[in-house]
Amino acid sequence: MGVDYIKIIVAHSFIFIYPEKFAPLADDVLEAIVDEAHKSGTWVMAHIDSAPDAIKMVGYGADEINHLIDMGLVEIPDESAYDELFQLMVDKETWLVPTMAIVRTYNHLIVERNAPVTIDEYFIPHYKKAYEAGVRMGCGCDSGAPAVLWGPSLHAEL
Ligand SMILES: [Zn+2]
Repeated sequence: MGVDYIKIIVAHSFIFIYPEKFAPLADDVLEAIVDEAHKSGTWVMAHIDSAPDAIKMVGYGADEINHLIDMGLVEIPDESAYDELFQLMVDKETWLVPTMAIVRTYNHLIVERNAPVTIDEYFIPHYKKAYEAGVRMGCGCDSGAPAVLWGPSLHAEL
């Protein structure tokens, strides 16, 4: 028994569950969660939808960044934020787990929201950029979410 990891949602949009924006946890709370988890040797992953938030969480010591995709993206982030993020992740040996399978499953929601980018046009090139920068990449696909099946989604992710 016990806990293998803690996952913190640090997101400005989470349209699968909450169609409207909600306030993220305060920065001091996020930092305290990471610190307390690490005191017991617990891995910390962060559900992230923007490069600036990822920079913040990697700076706090998060072990893993998940997604890095904004399903409700309304404006394109400054590209230099990704350069800074990926270098920081290399320096701190932080893992990136993109979870493209679930995003592709729900890609119609991006299209319906008239987002200016899609996963194929925007996010996959950024994952490639992370890989080329030397960021540690993990494989996860959010299996168990509706229509994201165990097994096939892992193969799709790979
Ligand atoms: Zn997540």
